[in-house]
Amino acid sequence: MQKRIVSGIKPTSSMTLGNYLGAIKVWVDSQYEAENLFFVADHHAITVPQDPKEMHELTFELVAAYIASGLDIETNTFFLQSHVPAHMELGWILTCQSPMGWLKRMTQFKDKAGKNQDSIGAGLFTYPSLMAADILLYSATHVPVGDDQKQHVELTRDLAISFNQKFGDVFTVPEPVIAKEGARIMSLRDGTKKMSKSDPSDMTRINLLDSAEAIVDKIKRAKTDTGVMPSSSEELKDRPEVKNLIEIYGLLSGISSVQVIEQFDGQPFSPFKNALGELIVEKITPIGAQMNVLMNDRAELLRLLAKGRDKAADLANPTLAKVKEVMGFVANPS
Ligand code: ATP
Ligand code: MG
Repeated sequence: MQKRIVSGIKPTSSMTLGNYLGAIKVWVDSQYEAENLFFVADHHAITVPQDPKEMHELTFELVAAYIASGLDIETNTFFLQSHVPAHMELGWILTCQSPMGWLKRMTQFKDKAGKNQDSIGAGLFTYPSLMAADILLYSATHVPVGDDQKQHVELTRDLAISFNQKFGDVFTVPEPVIAKEGARIMSLRDGTKKMSKSDPSDMTRINLLDSAEAIVDKIKRAKTDTGVMPSSSEELKDRPEVKNLIEIYGLLSGISSVQVIEQFDGQPFSPFKNALGELIVEKITPIGAQMNVLMNDRAELLRLLAKGRDKAADLANPTLAKVKEVMGFVANPS
């Protein structure tokens, strides 16, 4: 079977280094090994309240980030989830097929809803079923996501298998693809929490559009501990903040965490933080600069999105038609 990759990011805030290392870099590194569809998950964004003007801008920003990060516009398909209505329709159908118990087990819902389970919109609870639709519509074989989304891809697999058992072999069962390193970049202020673009504090994350000064400042102020740089991996146990910074350094410089440890062996934090700040500036600010150029040509981005929508719809509509047929829906007369 041909390898087909589907993945997306929500336009909830500016893209972070976590999204870059956990998702986009993985997409870029394997982009010529498969047929790829990358979308902006705008319908997922509204599972929590969004400012309409901001979401509009962020949608363009995200497409620009995809391209500026190195995804080839000739070979990859880019589109907005809301431009292909089949997502909504299959999303509803799969919501009806999703046992409450399966959805209740999703840790991301518990994390995001927190104490507000009765006041948040119901979509936050059911969105994993829509995510399953995003994937299954395209018969994706592989879904590259950060570690926090692994549980949702597993739910997608379970839904595909149970649907196929009930109605016949309609869906391809996809595999999650999780990077060995970088799949869970942590907050700069709390090494036990993942870096998130929706975190209220901007100091917890590096954004692709941050200035060089902002990056250096955030890394200088990133939380560490009372010790010094480790001399071995064992010394990283129970030091999540230091471990995270070392992992980021290794990923961006293309060396292992062990090599980073050897390089800064037992030194105070400041030379390491200076080097890390410079490294992030070197790798990330060119992406931000390119994003700004791309965002200035909305017409070009919209042309690309229209092309992507048509390609995506051509793949998605036959899957949806098949699903409806096996479930007993009467086909719409032409
Ligand atoms: P939000 O806080 O609004 O949920 P987010 O930063 O979690 O935003 P998403 O749009 O939910 O971003 O996820 C986009 C992709 O980035 C997913 O594949 C997700 O697994 C990945 N990702 C998100 N945060 C991290 C992180 N800290 N480290 C690695 N990958 C991440
Ligand atoms: Mg998220």
